[in-house]
Amino acid sequence: MSRLGTMARFEEPEDVKPVAECKGCNNLLFAGEEVVESKGKYFCETGCLVESLDCSYKTLGEI
Ligand SMILES: [Zn+2]
Repeated sequence: MSRLGTMARFEEPEDVKPVAECKGCNNLLFAGEEVVESKGKYFCETGCLVESLDCSYKTLGEI
């Protein structure tokens, strides 16, 4: 005998569409994430922004 069950489908909480894409590393960015925004472009972190500007972090030595 099988139970007469109406199994509710499981809602996938991970089924969230990305809102934007990091212009530096192309990571998908989702709503609620903290991102870096520059002139309408989004970056997952400042490092990606810096790289996209053709810059890099440097440590200055003694002059
Ligand atoms: Zn990135």
